[in-house]
Amino acid sequence: MSAAKTMEVLAASLDELLREARAVKQRATGTRVTWSPKVFIPLTHLCLDRCGYCTFAQPPARVQAPYLSPDDVLAIARRGERAGCHEALFTLGERPEERYPVARQWLAQHGCANTVDYLVAMCRLVQEETGLLPHANAGALHPDELARLREVSASQGMMIESLNPHLDAHRGSPDKTPARRLATLEAAGELRIPFTTGILCGIGESRHDRVGALVAIAASHRRHGHVQEVIVQNFLPKPGTAMHAAPPCPSDEFAWSIAAARLLLPADVHVQAPPNLSDDFGALLDAGIDDWGGVSPVTADHVNPERPWPAVERLRAETEARGFTLAPRLAIYPSFALDPGTWLDAALRFSVLDRSDAEGLAREPGDPWYSGADVEPPCLLPVPVPMAMTQSSAATAATSAVAEVLAGVALGHEVGVDEIVTLFSARGPEVAAVAEVADDLRRATVGDDVTFVVNRNINYTNVCTFKCRFCAFSKGPLSLNLRGKPYLLDLDEIARRVVEAEEKGATEVCLQGGIHPDFDGDYYLHVAEAVHAAAPCVHIHGFTALEVTEGARRNGEPLADYLRRLMAAGLKTLPGTAAEILDDEVRRDLCPDKITTDEWLDAHRTAHSVGLRSNITIMFGAIERPVHWARHLVRTRELQRETGGFTEFVPLPFVHMAAPMYLQRKSRRGPTFREALLMHAVARIAYRGWVDNIQVSWVKMGAEGARQALLAGVNDLGGTLMDENISRAAGASHGQEMDAAGFAALVDGLPGPRRLVQRTTLYDRFGRAHAGVPA
Ligand code: SF4
Repeated sequence: MSAAKTMEVLAASLDELLREARAVKQRATGTRVTWSPKVFIPLTHLCLDRCGYCTFAQPPARVQAPYLSPDDVLAIARRGERAGCHEALFTLGERPEERYPVARQWLAQHGCANTVDYLVAMCRLVQEETGLLPHANAGALHPDELARLREVSASQGMMIESLNPHLDAHRGSPDKTPARRLATLEAAGELRIPFTTGILCGIGESRHDRVGALVAIAASHRRHGHVQEVIVQNFLPKPGTAMHAAPPCPSDEFAWSIAAARLLLPADVHVQAPPNLSDDFGALLDAGIDDWGGVSPVTADHVNPERPWPAVERLRAETEARGFTLAPRLAIYPSFALDPGTWLDAALRFSVLDRSDAEGLAREPGDPWYSGADVEPPCLLPVPVPMAMTQSSAATAATSAVAEVLAGVALGHEVGVDEIVTLFSARGPEVAAVAEVADDLRRATVGDDVTFVVNRNINYTNVCTFKCRFCAFSKGPLSLNLRGKPYLLDLDEIARRVVEAEEKGATEVCLQGGIHPDFDGDYYLHVAEAVHAAAPCVHIHGFTALEVTEGARRNGEPLADYLRRLMAAGLKTLPGTAAEILDDEVRRDLCPDKITTDEWLDAHRTAHSVGLRSNITIMFGAIERPVHWARHLVRTRELQRETGGFTEFVPLPFVHMAAPMYLQRKSRRGPTFREALLMHAVARIAYRGWVDNIQVSWVKMGAEGARQALLAGVNDLGGTLMDENISRAAGASHGQEMDAAGFAALVDGLPGPRRLVQRTTLYDRFGRAHAGVPA
């Protein structure tokens, strides 16, 4: 930090400072403002220090017990768990055992030498029993104490408060000396601990003091990269404290301090102001904060009990009214969560992963939806799009990067990787705005028909030599949770199922299965011949890029020749499965022995060249990030530009329940509903002019999820799918079959003249109405 910069900050007018801070915030975090759903666990109110502003610290006579018992701690954590919280914030007085014999006795009775011992035990208890992520706020600590807490907490914190050593507010507080505070901050960095710190404004310090503290925090962060956020907190006098008659921090001075923090701290350090200590949330946003800190739906702010947390809905409304969006985060911020090898003890990594979305933010509290679950998703559509999303409705309204991309789309621009990543970041009203654009494109591209095909899945074998780490269907050494036995259908049984499907009105059979060690390329030829002989009019949609690539390889013949022989045997189109995420960075971990990105693309390029059309799938929500989704969309769009052979795009949200990599604690629990909905909408936008049909998988999204997808760019419901085994093997609970009446019920009540229509595999319409289908 240059001395010139600090001089500039000190010399600037408040208006100039606020304007510059807003611009820096906009560049650093756009319109996103985060909060952490937490429970507050006040482990002990006893404290060695005697800070003049504090009501948290109490003498032993004023507390029921020196420390919360393990049962009390767990009871609070469980309340938070039930309310969908992610963070367990442990706040406590500093080293009470050095001041109070009763604290020493209590700790000794509970087998602990000191408060940090007990804190470590309670963090571990909460983490193991609830999965909540402990954030330990134990004040100034020595390196060995920080290191022990690192093993049981996702992040730690300690307010610097002020580096002025002469403040009356800190008289009698040995832990509040600048040297103790800075040593703790520095040790946390050396130990690679994601760290929260902050300054307290209005306790007698000057602007120079605050700048000094911010510059010191910035310097420590530049050395270690560990400061995830800086809290800028305003002093409010409290009755019963030494500073009860001191004036509160003036609001202008507070705004100045927030803006100074935003300007003096590196851009990757987040700036937070607690919302319960101010009445004017807009002023805090205008000063450059991008985080509201922990807000608890179940516990009080025990440090400021007279100032209750705002309801999250109020926080959301006030945030959105300024043109920002509100996103939940974990105790650990995304850049740290996405680099767990550096920043997290191995024991904490799965809890972080399990609670994360693809950006490393938190899954929405109170939304239990996951792909394949029998749980209603949240209603993200339709919701009104506020003015701030479409135009700048106030002088201070923030400009949304999502809105800027959508404005480009309205002008006909094609979105690239960066723009697609931006669209996937949409939150709150931005989601509705993306969906609205996608819905308009759907209407302009394919009209109001909602199509479906009557089909049957035939998975001829679940025996597979490959070891895709997400796959719960295949039976092999990696399967941890065998749902059913290995099987291999014979050709007669396959033919019988095809005839049965045709009798029930199916026009298509979808054939895919594991890669059986005994198969050679001729197996797939025999299957196609058997199906074609049994039902010559039924469209054979079969054999993934992996199957045909492997079949050709095992036969030792060029893929194009092999595909021509399959076509001669009756094959009509290829499914786009085995794509997973078309990015080798992800495939290395997701499906290391499967075909590469280029091999998948080459298989489809070759198929298109010999006259076989195919579709694109994406299986998302396991380990990858939005940039990988964006690359997948752009790579397949490039191939479509070259060949024109893709008929549709089919998003397949990852179903985690029985997936080996989830059971091995190495994946997320699939996409959030917001992410799943956006995948359909963003694809409609990204594929504009190239892929006309966007399909929703009702098996994975559920009926209500599919209904919302139909309002977000989707025009196709896929197949009726008698016998859908693959999603069910992964734990999906939606039915194996949906009939036309079920689809009609789903389409019923959609706004606009939407109409259910049965189609062929290649999207031709049937001239006759089918049972249960409106003509
Ligand atoms: S996804 Fe397919 S290739 Fe991979 S293990 Fe499962 S069945 Fe085998």
